[in-house]
Amino acid sequence: MNVKKLIDILEKRGFFYQTAEIYGGISGFFDLGPLGVLLKNNIIKIFKEVFVDEFPYKIYEIEASLFAPSNVLKASGHLERFYDPIIECEKCKSIFRADHLIEEELNMNVEGISLEKMDEIIKKNNLKCKCGGNFSQTKEFKLLFKSFVGAKNDEIYLRPETAQHIFVNFLNVYNSMRAKLPFGILQIGKSFRNEISPRQFLIRLREFSQAEIEFFFNPNYEFSEIDFVLKEKIPIYKREEQRKNSNIVEKISIEELIEEKIIPNKLFGLFLLKEIEFYRIIGIEEDKIRFRHLLEEETPFYSKSNVDLEIKFDFGWKEVVGNAYRTDYDLKQHSKYSNKEIFVVENGKKFVPHVIEPSFGIERTIYAVLQNSFIENGRGWSYFLFKPKIAPIKVAIFPLVNKDGLAEIAEKIFKDLKKEFECIIEFKDSIGKRYARADEIGIPFCITCDYQTLEDSTVTIRDIATAKQKRLAINELKESLKKLI
Ligand code: AMP
Repeated sequence: MNVKKLIDILEKRGFFYQTAEIYGGISGFFDLGPLGVLLKNNIIKIFKEVFVDEFPYKIYEIEASLFAPSNVLKASGHLERFYDPIIECEKCKSIFRADHLIEEELNMNVEGISLEKMDEIIKKNNLKCKCGGNFSQTKEFKLLFKSFVGAKNDEIYLRPETAQHIFVNFLNVYNSMRAKLPFGILQIGKSFRNEISPRQFLIRLREFSQAEIEFFFNPNYEFSEIDFVLKEKIPIYKREEQRKNSNIVEKISIEELIEEKIIPNKLFGLFLLKEIEFYRIIGIEEDKIRFRHLLEEETPFYSKSNVDLEIKFDFGWKEVVGNAYRTDYDLKQHSKYSNKEIFVVENGKKFVPHVIEPSFGIERTIYAVLQNSFIENGRGWSYFLFKPKIAPIKVAIFPLVNKDGLAEIAEKIFKDLKKEFECIIEFKDSIGKRYARADEIGIPFCITCDYQTLEDSTVTIRDIATAKQKRLAINELKESLKKLI
């Protein structure tokens, strides 16, 4: 895939712009253009249909502050442990991520190993900078963006994930909503990480959006309402296959995943199944999705199970959703640091709920959709074949010519349809050129008013998937489009 061409279209046609582009841009930050906003909103709408409206358990949504006071991040461990290992070339002063360098140069997975061990590997393998210079010792580089608040300049941080504000608000939601376990709290919003080397367009950003659900439950709860998940199968990339460097992905049932202790319970399985459903609806086929069971050394100490949903991109497989069984770790930490008791009482028994968390990267999701919908040079031009439900603009309306009353009819249709769907109307250039421009931004349906329209009040409707046209009566357009979309 020609990724440069894809990104050129996205920038030229109003999906994404570089932040502060006229000043040269700033690495790791992107602004959404009008089409990007529409696409993102459509994807989030489907996300909420799958994970809130049609989810078998109650999910509450909150929207917390983007800032986190230092106590919150002390309790979560971010202040102490949220860093990347970096090294500097002693000659040209370039800075690298030590773990990425080792992975790329030696094809070695070094997740979770100490800084000293990385130094050892770099020395032993005589790794040097491209300029020939030696590397410094590996150091910690903190990923939090720090700021200051109020006249006393108290330290405050941009949140590195949306999850912590959910834990901090657990009791608020539980009490104010008279909530009953099991239930989840969802938050969709921005997170900030001062990544050393932002790269691969939307994959590694410094400001990005997450959708995180923290699902709270009694660890003894049976989840018998969702027994139907047990026989369902998902594609799993097991630890032993990863260690062999093989690419073998097995389809196995949720029941077996629980037996093999890869996942803790049916609820975790339900999330994995729902994730496949969500990505299928927005246009990612199942053969582009796999679940990777994280290796022991990659699994955080507080987590009892970690399974990433990975999607195939042009450069290979990449994590798009992280799923973790965080147990009661976070609530207990916040209880300890805030000196507030956090617990629930059920049948006279007091306990701290356990948590399962799926954490979605929205920009990675959007990029996966864009890459998987991109048809390069399909018709002499490149275009996006979006599922109509997520297409930013659903309908384009064209008068064949701008005379004989066709433009007026097109205007009337446009005014009527735009109450229902995101539409555009275009008068300029040949119909062929207008179709090509509509294809380029993935408009699924183009409506053309021609001379037959004057005779029988019908128009042509062209489907982007086939480029075929059929005729429809103007007064049936709205209903037909609703069905098609
Ligand atoms: P994590 O909290 O690191 O497990 O991240 C959860 C999800 O957020 C990942 O699966 C990614 O989809 C997304 N994500 C994490 N870091 C970044 C980043 N720097 N840029 C874009 N998305 C990210």
